[in-house]
Amino acid sequence: MRKSNKYTLAALIVLLAILAATRSGVQAAPAELSPITPGEAPAATKRVAIVIDDFGNRMSGTEQMMEMPVPITVAIMPFMPTTKSDAELAQKAGHEVIVHMPMEPLRGKKSWLGPGAIMTAMSDNEIRRKVNEAIDSVPHAIGMNNHMGSKATTDPRVARIVLEVCKERGLFFLDSRTSYFSLMKKIGQEVGVPVVENQLFLDDTVSQVHVKRQLRKILTHLEGANQCIAIGHVGGSGKTTASALRESIPELSKQFEFVKLSTLVPRLLTR
Ligand SMILES: [Zn+2]
Repeated sequence: MRKSNKYTLAALIVLLAILAATRSGVQAAPAELSPITPGEAPAATKRVAIVIDDFGNRMSGTEQMMEMPVPITVAIMPFMPTTKSDAELAQKAGHEVIVHMPMEPLRGKKSWLGPGAIMTAMSDNEIRRKVNEAIDSVPHAIGMNNHMGSKATTDPRVARIVLEVCKERGLFFLDSRTSYFSLMKKIGQEVGVPVVENQLFLDDTVSQVHVKRQLRKILTHLEGANQCIAIGHVGGSGKTTASALRESIPELSKQFEFVKLSTLVPRLLTR
């Protein structure tokens, strides 16, 4: 009995060793993502769009974001003092512009929403009018994403109207994913509007260390995907996020390509 126990133990150790070897083999796969030697094209280029929210009100970090040496997507709130000038700046700097549409949250003050917000108590016509006016107020916008919206994006009636207007105006929608229960993607498919989704927020905590850690999380996401969308902000965290992003660009550029958001949007629209 003792002897056979010994053999069982030996067999177990061998099995564990094999498993460990296999695992390390599997883990070696991300080596694909390691820095590319000059002149060598990556097997499949991974692509990442960085979207920066909350422009339109002379927010802190605006200038630093506009000067970013890679394309970013500038999400601008409608009807604000620098809505139009931020859109022009972004366009000149070669960045993409989208409407940052204020939508009703489950919690939070109404004052955080800004003007022109979509509320679930509004009539169909009122929502339709507000979304159209918001699009009119942001020059160069080619898409839209939600500011807040943890309530409105889970309301099927509201989600449908917002997406129908996007379709009529030739805009795609980026779901910021402020609610786990958001219906934007599902209803977008029904309406026939391309909806892409935010994979991670970069600056929910305002610190360089945190933003850099979040930026590295993009690499983890890319182990199982070819593209990633991440959202940061101007405002309270703006300068911190901008400098963390800028400092990370040289290293991250070896791992993936920074692209405009529109290049990650499936083409459903006939523009
Ligand atoms: Zn926002």
